[in-house]
Amino acid sequence: MKPSATAREIDAVVRVIEAIGLRAHPMPGATRTAIGITGNQGTIDGRRFENLTGVAEVIRVTKPYKLITLDLRPEKTVVRIGDAMIGGSGLAIIAGPCAIESRDQAFAIAEAVQKSGARFFRGCVWKPRTSPYTFQGLGANAWEIMSAIREEFGLKIVTEAVEEAHINLIEKYGDVIQIGARNMQNFSLLKRAGRSKLPVLLKRGMAATLEEWLLAAEYIMAEGNYNVILCERGVRTFAQHTRNTLDLAAVPAIRRISHLPIIVDPSHGTGTAYMVTPLARAGVAVGADGLMIEVHNQPELALSDSAQALTFSEYAQLIEEIRAIREATAPLAHATQTKETSSEQIKVDALTYR
Ligand code: PEP
Ligand code: MN
Repeated sequence: MKPSATAREIDAVVRVIEAIGLRAHPMPGATRTAIGITGNQGTIDGRRFENLTGVAEVIRVTKPYKLITLDLRPEKTVVRIGDAMIGGSGLAIIAGPCAIESRDQAFAIAEAVQKSGARFFRGCVWKPRTSPYTFQGLGANAWEIMSAIREEFGLKIVTEAVEEAHINLIEKYGDVIQIGARNMQNFSLLKRAGRSKLPVLLKRGMAATLEEWLLAAEYIMAEGNYNVILCERGVRTFAQHTRNTLDLAAVPAIRRISHLPIIVDPSHGTGTAYMVTPLARAGVAVGADGLMIEVHNQPELALSDSAQALTFSEYAQLIEEIRAIREATAPLAHATQTKETSSEQIKVDALTYR
């Protein structure tokens, strides 16, 4: 839409899109609103929209994904969760145990997380485990603990929905829905998350290409939920010195295509505590919007992912180091970002895949 388009003009275009059986996705930007259109099986003649009042141009996005692209929203998406943000100028820290194990455990860790200045507490209520015989999480019993932590520490609660019904409970007691690597292509789960009002943190599948990962994000957005945060957590390769191979090049690669914020998880990305801090440093230096870190009051006793959990002192040291790196590298990241998303550049890109 033109920068001068009024809310009424935007509404009128949305109504035309819906009247022909398609879905409109209005996305307000800093200077103008873009309206994404999905739901068409083949190509449609975009000229029908060109003469509507307030329309500046009609761009056909011929990439497989549409709503995640910079074509639609040239500015980065900032996901706001109350007064906390992911994708803004600050670094978002999401930290906590792999799983909620007990009240004492969760409270001790939440205190350390809050002390570090992090705004997000992560901890699985339900665990997707490779073996059916290992700890599966406390399940619904963990919510009482989570609610008390949210209340007492003011931390935002991030937890994984392993199945659709879990989203109802996260909507009631939590702040961010995590979709795990093993469920990245669970399409009914993605669609259910897309109908939620809560932001969705979408981890990369362990064998997913960027295109598959972005299309999974597209599933969520196509349902109307535009608050998606991508999380690089490593992919499976032939390397045996780490649990996964953390693909840090995914960060600049995603930046070039998408407006969505992207964070890095060096805990699952390495699987070993001593590697977490070096890879966290690298994640920040490469321009991630945040980090997801596993930390435990007694790593040696953790019921899941014990080997990758940091102690409190290791965690505190990590936070200090990454803040310094963020401060030193933020101007660089900003310069790259501005260059890549300048409207000139977008225009050129848009023309090439019209
Ligand atoms: C987790 O965050 O605890 C988790 C299970 O991660 P992933 O889905 O990346 O394996
Ligand atoms: Mn874990």
